[in-house]
Amino acid sequence: MLRLEDVHVRRGGTHALRGVSLEIEEGEIVALIGANGAGKTTTLATISGLLRPQSGRILFAPGRGEPERDLTKMRAEDIVAAGISHCPEGRQVFANLSVTENLRIGAYLRNDKAAIEKDVADIQAQFPILRSRAQLPGDRLSGGEQMMLVIGRALMSKPRLLLLDEPSLGLAPQLVEQIFDILAEIRRQGVTVLLVEQNASMALELGDRAYVLEAGSLVLHGSGRELAGNPDIQRAYLGGA
Ligand code: ATP
Repeated sequence: MLRLEDVHVRRGGTHALRGVSLEIEEGEIVALIGANGAGKTTTLATISGLLRPQSGRILFAPGRGEPERDLTKMRAEDIVAAGISHCPEGRQVFANLSVTENLRIGAYLRNDKAAIEKDVADIQAQFPILRSRAQLPGDRLSGGEQMMLVIGRALMSKPRLLLLDEPSLGLAPQLVEQIFDILAEIRRQGVTVLLVEQNASMALELGDRAYVLEAGSLVLHGSGRELAGNPDIQRAYLGGA
């Protein structure tokens, strides 16, 4: 579904991605783990067209048999329309807009009004907290509720591939579990997920496969289970001795 081929990205004076190549198959949850500054956020921003690579290709085909397109040649809004939705780091809800208005914004590229309202209702059924808080401004929600709102908003563009940047950041363990359960449910509904996480143990548990990024280069990949059992990964990312 998505293939990065030898992608290089410079940010200011930093060579942030140094030849990243990775693949995601339809229906997978793939985790991308690595230390602060490794280039995880840069990878997502480059896929979604917010950053341009200096070289390399990013090929995306929303479904089997559909033609591949090179995202590095497309505008960010065309990438959303092609089926990729990006939940950026830091739960960026619109503070003064209600929960329902925040959800509608996720459909800004669509003009099928009746279908949008049905999708808002469906998402509020899937995330009951977004129904009971429907009229509250976004900044009145707790951190976990804001994360659900951001995920719900991202689903409003009907993505085939969801990019998630650190959904567990700053959340209590119980809420992290809840968010990860939601991701598993989203996958069951047919959405493929690329998940960037500092919480490596949760990400490896949920991820079918994972890639490890260090200083702009991928150094390891494998199934979530293989990587969770790898002593180097345990030492570096799982708090092992
Ligand atoms: P974190 O978990 O801290 O977000 P990360 O793995 O997502 O880390 P990136 O944010 O992608 O890492 O950063 C990769 C590199 O790019 C780092 O060296 C960082 O200093 C640099 N960088 C990040 N943002 C900018 C920016 N706006 N301008 C210049 N360099 C940047």
